[in-house]
Amino acid sequence: MPDDCLFCRIVRGDISVPFVYETPQCVAFRDINPQAPVHVLVVPREHVASLDAARNPALIGELSLAAAEIARREGVAERGYRTVVNTNAEAGQTVFHLHLHLLGGRPLGWPPG
Ligand code: AMP
Ligand code: ZN
Repeated sequence: MPDDCLFCRIVRGDISVPFVYETPQCVAFRDINPQAPVHVLVVPREHVASLDAARNPALIGELSLAAAEIARREGVAERGYRTVVNTNAEAGQTVFHLHLHLLGGRPLGWPPG
């Protein structure tokens, strides 16, 4: 857990952010700059820099199923929602601790920008 990683600090509780969901492997909290009425970040407790650095298939499955559960709890599962993992610079990754975006509550355009 790098000292200077923003999401490690949130996972540790150094920065107080309410968790909307948590499991032994991951935590979820609302994005500070929401791009949709529901915009939740699902974050592994373990530091993994990006999807490109991930090696544990169970952890990736955990993040996806956590997002599906949060979508049901937030009331967007039937309407539809999107999960996104931005990976490295050209995709716009800005925080280099793996996270899955859950977006919902409005029509979502395709293709994405
Ligand atoms: P990405 O650009 O895919 O790396 O996503 C990083 C996300 O983290 C962005 O959507 C930011 O708005 C969000 N973010 C940055 N700092 C915080 C914070 N302190 N609490 C919640 N979300 C944050
Ligand atoms: Zn980290």
